[in-house]
Amino acid sequence: MIVLRSKDEIGQIRKAGSILALTLEKLKRHVKPGVETKELDEIARDEIIKRNGYPAFKGYNGFPGNICVSVNECVVHGIPSDRKLRDGDIVSLDVGVKFRDYCADGAITVGVGKINDAAVKLLEVTEKALYIGIEKARAGKRLTDLSHAIQEYVESNSFGVVRSLVGHGIGTKIHEDPEIPNFGKPGMGPVLEPGMILAIEPMVNAGTYEVETLDDGWSVVTKDRRLSAHFEHTIAVTAEGPQILTAK
Ligand code: MG
Repeated sequence: MIVLRSKDEIGQIRKAGSILALTLEKLKRHVKPGVETKELDEIARDEIIKRNGYPAFKGYNGFPGNICVSVNECVVHGIPSDRKLRDGDIVSLDVGVKFRDYCADGAITVGVGKINDAAVKLLEVTEKALYIGIEKARAGKRLTDLSHAIQEYVESNSFGVVRSLVGHGIGTKIHEDPEIPNFGKPGMGPVLEPGMILAIEPMVNAGTYEVETLDDGWSVVTKDRRLSAHFEHTIAVTAEGPQILTAK
């Protein structure tokens, strides 16, 4: 069941989203060669708690980190560790924030030091795919109109869009209905309505779209071990069009 949220509830989610955006801004400034991924985790935790939020991924289904930090071929759900970032890596930072009763979810992928042109393009295409999806999140459209638009754009750039992981509704829980695939035929799924809150999150691979989970039970990596990027915003469908809630 898809819950429609009131203006007041959307305001609460926006508050969680602003804490999230400030946290990602801070993390970005700390991404550099030599930094351990668990240092980023600690910075995020401190930033969220300082602003009276709660890191929503901590303990979620038993996840050990406060945030997900996924390096290079890791698509999502990377566990923060003593791994040090190296010049030329790309790192995805996926943050969930709960503020009072409401959640927001957002992610960025950033380069560490100097990254090569192919990695730059992967990041650009993935971020643009997110905005293309958001643009389609309009009342009266069908859910998979946005899924299709993301896939079309990603594949026109010869990248693979992950199928086995999808975006989701969000509200009082981090994962709610509906599931939001980043691929598929247009014109299917529920009709979008004002008050729907969607976490849209294309995961884009340099090579094959296929992924697998490592023995740690969490880290999802590309099957061919080529790079993967991930960008995500929580948005509200409104009568005036899509509104990004995970912005500063
Ligand atoms: Mg998400």
